[in-house]
Amino acid sequence: MRALDRLGIFGGTFDPPHLGHLILAECAVNGLNLSRVLFVLAADPPHKQGQLVTPVAHRLAMLEHAIADNPCFALSRIDIDRPGPHYSVDMLRLLCAEYAESPLFFLMGGDSLDHFLTWRDPAGILDSAQLAVIRRPGAPFDLRELTAQLPSLPDRLQFVDAPPIGVAASDLRDRIHAGQSIRYQVPDAVAAYIHENHLYED
Ligand code: ATP
Repeated sequence: MRALDRLGIFGGTFDPPHLGHLILAECAVNGLNLSRVLFVLAADPPHKQGQLVTPVAHRLAMLEHAIADNPCFALSRIDIDRPGPHYSVDMLRLLCAEYAESPLFFLMGGDSLDHFLTWRDPAGILDSAQLAVIRRPGAPFDLRELTAQLPSLPDRLQFVDAPPIGVAASDLRDRIHAGQSIRYQVPDAVAAYIHENHLYED
């Protein structure tokens, strides 16, 4: 990467990755003039402790399939190769040091912004990256309340224009479990991988 390239950082559980994730990242590339989006797979997401999460090798393989055909998308193993739980503030500090010349944009959906104050060290996150938020259907947030608690937020927050996509990984898992189709909601290669490996069936 060239110095001063604008870099999107997109963290998630990606269980499974779906079109909502990909459209969000693509719209961020366009809307924020990013050179690249790094998809950061959280092997051990702190907000999903105690929940059943698909083994990281499967989530990684699905994410590789999902982003394979987009030259602006790349995968980061930073939250796979270090011990968890994987807090975003630590991940962003590490990436900030690695890409010291590049402005970082931390991509998230509106539901994540709504919970942002419950994350570890939100002010520390804003020190490392600007937030780039994509509104998500059925996920409102209270910007006044967020700003009251986190005064540095407005200067570090941008919204990205994107068509609202009502796809959610939890809904896809439920659909597979119920024997319903997920066609058109995930890339074909991801659907094939899920089918071949019998994921989410139990
Ligand atoms: P789950 O339903 O299991 O909570 P998810 O679909 O929200 O999963 P995650 O991997 O947890 O997927 O999400 C990673 C990031 O992508 C989060 O910031 C989330 O807000 C955002 N995101 C996921 N789906 C959408 C969507 N359809 N529109 C906008 N943002 C989304």
